Amino acid sequence: MSTFKAPKGTYDLIPPDSAKYLAVREAIAAPLRNSGYGYIETPGFESVELFARGVGESTDIVTKEMYAFETKGGDRLALRPEGTASVLRAALEANLHKAGNLPVKLWYSGSYYRYERPQKGRYRHFSQVGAEAIGAEDPALDAELIILADQAYRSLGLREFRILLNSLGDQECRPVYRAALQDFLRGLDLDEETLRRADINPLRVLDDKRDDVQKQLVGAPLLRDYLCDACKAYHEEVRELITAAGVSFEDDAKLVRGLDYYTRTTFEFVHDGLGSQSAVGGGGRYDGLSEMIGGPALPSVGWALGVDRTVLALEAEGVTLQLPAATSVFAVPLGDEARRVLFGVVSELRRNGVAADFSYGAKGLKGAMKNANRSGARYTVVAGERDLAEGVVQLKDMESGEQVAVGVNEIVAELESRLS
Ligand code: ATP
Ligand code: MG
Repeated sequence: MSTFKAPKGTYDLIPPDSAKYLAVREAIAAPLRNSGYGYIETPGFESVELFARGVGESTDIVTKEMYAFETKGGDRLALRPEGTASVLRAALEANLHKAGNLPVKLWYSGSYYRYERPQKGRYRHFSQVGAEAIGAEDPALDAELIILADQAYRSLGLREFRILLNSLGDQECRPVYRAALQDFLRGLDLDEETLRRADINPLRVLDDKRDDVQKQLVGAPLLRDYLCDACKAYHEEVRELITAAGVSFEDDAKLVRGLDYYTRTTFEFVHDGLGSQSAVGGGGRYDGLSEMIGGPALPSVGWALGVDRTVLALEAEGVTLQLPAATSVFAVPLGDEARRVLFGVVSELRRNGVAADFSYGAKGLKGAMKNANRSGARYTVVAGERDLAEGVVQLKDMESGEQVAVGVNEIVAELESRLS
């Protein structure tokens, strides 16, 4: 061990577990790639102001969780706490919304940073894969994203997740609801901070995790009773499309996002095996966000799925992923001549797409075979001076233990045919 440890709230991805993270990212990305989403990568930090406006000045993310700093040049920057604001900023900057067809559909994968109280499933550095569909108001687009996330989780073998769905209304109906909710909240016995939140961001109070608050919220007015006809019709269409696709969901009238630019469709994916950090992903419509960061009106919808929590969910369900073997063939040379020959064999196997590795360092046969075993390789190729004098190498099937001599010039083809 060195003098240093990973910073509090962070952890390293190391083999063999790290392979799971790659597989999860890949599984989430695959349905997006297959549905017209293009890959986007943005910087790990942005202007603080982008997040203050794009995530919301009154959110916990901005007020408590953001890693904000001033550079030596005097710029006020923050490590990105989420992806949507950056992706929208980049799309606007590149004029993607003017280039042709709307919606602009983008997906991303990366690290995000929040100064949170670390616990299982809640870290200061975590990883998300996300998708955004920018510039179209169409219930089929909302449905598409929900269906694709469902497909991603299912392709991983997850079963015990639920989709919670709600509508937040729009500029027309939400203000009426907001006022009704405020009236209700002002009549409750709430602490000062929560009352202040009721003033600035009353919907967020519905999200309060405390039991005594939740108890008082039992009779709170619900947004679904306030939706205007257009919002009702839109939401009904989203629900029908998802249902027709065979994706089940639960209506959750209390599912909220506190900010004004979130409109209509909102959803969350929860996994029941995760305890209190149960949200594995979430998303929704953010029709007002573009204007919030100085862009034109661009109704949009998106989601972000947490990779760390998805891995925990897989573990909770006892799902083991079918990962491709890291190494299929392991070469063990005995002596200098064998070393040159087998190194050539390994290089050729690799060129042909076979996962192969080599016993490096001066090791005896025993130590080298131990490495071969640990590598998980299906086949080991061993060669010593006597083998080479006869023009052969020894091919050992690590599963059956069976060993045969194969000509040096045939070994690559033989392995390829056995592995195909
Ligand atoms: P929570 O209510 O658990 O704090 P959130 O609403 O802050 O979640 P989002 O901003 O919607 O989460 O992010 C989408 C997903 O990213 C979450 O569903 C979760 O899986 C993951 N996520 C968010 N914050 C963290 C974190 N600190 N550590 C690990 N994963 C996280
Ligand atoms: Mg959070």
